[in-house]
Amino acid sequence: MSHVFPRHTKANPPIAVAGQGCYIFDSTGKKYFDGSGGAAVSCLGHGDPDVTEAIKGQIDKIAFAHTGFFTSEPAEELADMLTRHAPEGLDRVYFVSGGSEAMEAALKLARQYYLEKGDTKRHRVIARRQSYHGNTLGALATGGNLWRREPFAPMMIQTSHIAPCYEYRGREDGETAFEYGQRVANELEAEIQRLGPENVMAFVAEPVVGATAGAVPPVEGYFKRIREICTAHGVLLILDEVMCGMGRTGSLFACEQDGVTADILCIAKGLGAGYQPIGAMLCSHDIYEAIENGSGFFQHGHTYIGHPTACAAALAVLKKLTGEIGQRVTPMGEKLDASLRDTFGQHEYVGDIRGCGLFRGIEIVEDRSTKQPFDPKRGINKALKRAAFEAGLACYPMGGTIDGVQGDHILLAPPFIMTGQQIDEITDKLSTAFRAVFKS
Ligand code: PMP
Repeated sequence: MSHVFPRHTKANPPIAVAGQGCYIFDSTGKKYFDGSGGAAVSCLGHGDPDVTEAIKGQIDKIAFAHTGFFTSEPAEELADMLTRHAPEGLDRVYFVSGGSEAMEAALKLARQYYLEKGDTKRHRVIARRQSYHGNTLGALATGGNLWRREPFAPMMIQTSHIAPCYEYRGREDGETAFEYGQRVANELEAEIQRLGPENVMAFVAEPVVGATAGAVPPVEGYFKRIREICTAHGVLLILDEVMCGMGRTGSLFACEQDGVTADILCIAKGLGAGYQPIGAMLCSHDIYEAIENGSGFFQHGHTYIGHPTACAAALAVLKKLTGEIGQRVTPMGEKLDASLRDTFGQHEYVGDIRGCGLFRGIEIVEDRSTKQPFDPKRGINKALKRAAFEAGLACYPMGGTIDGVQGDHILLAPPFIMTGQQIDEITDKLSTAFRAVFKS
């Protein structure tokens, strides 16, 4: 009997025993293409010798030193490199162990920032209905997924949710993409007015929506308008790039492509590329200075913040992401997109194919003309995941549970080292899964 508490108590997952490049091998010798890099984590694939060496080298020197006493060389070097590449103004980095921790830190930093400035009223957070920001209570309250939130709702901080920027379903007839983006961005203005600007602390969004919707990019101009509204009302813009950051969409930070910068920006997943658990929160000079000139102490912390071994791994990862490997994302992403469109573009149950870089989503619908999703009880997402896994492809399929108005989707986030031939392998295996699920 296994003593591990698994996510799905009735499932019996294979035992992963080895990883090489884009593949994971289980204890029976079966080989799986890691089509979603876990959950958009393994951007460098498995068994990268440089990252492994960096980890070994750091452990040989010192594996861990507590930040209550020390900083470390890899943490300093990593923070220096991240801020050199970060969007304008983000010049301080707070290291944590994952995405939810980064989001919790962001929410608390935002609150403390206003307190340091003597602005005690601001505490309300606005986010979007189509979003996931983590599973700890603050991050969960920020996210908009009803199914995830519901059991824990009585324990949550108060948040409000506006419409996402979801062109496939939201854009109305006769409206341009730009007009649509402005209209939904303006929901933020309305919500700030409703709550009273003096009460609003932050607006939180993923630049490209990941887990809840399958790689939904914003339309042009949307985030510029969001930035304008936040700035006008002194509301902090917190961008959650936990999934879409670290080169995944074709630029190191996804918001670079929208021409905006955040006040606080969170990253994780691709930062450690799965070699070590690490996340980070970057913040503006203004925020850091308010705390430095105020109490001088960010009232937060975890045992493993700034973990030297995790930082050493992330530094080795970042060196690769800012080099040749990072540059593969845009051209390989275009090839993957073309291959998905060739194979599934006309499929009876495919409503939308979307995304950017190596972050691609397919939305499944029962009726292409009305965009009617399948009844969630049919469990199309689970069936597709199972069938793809059977065919040797691990991909990330989630259900259409957001306000009941979106279809099941598949998220692809393969390693950046993937070859053209392996793109065919993904589409072939996915086709096998589609045939297995839709023939019945
Ligand atoms: N934000 C986003 C956008 C995510 O996709 C995730 C993880 N799927 C998180 C936050 C939470 O990260 P973690 O699971 O590392 O806590």
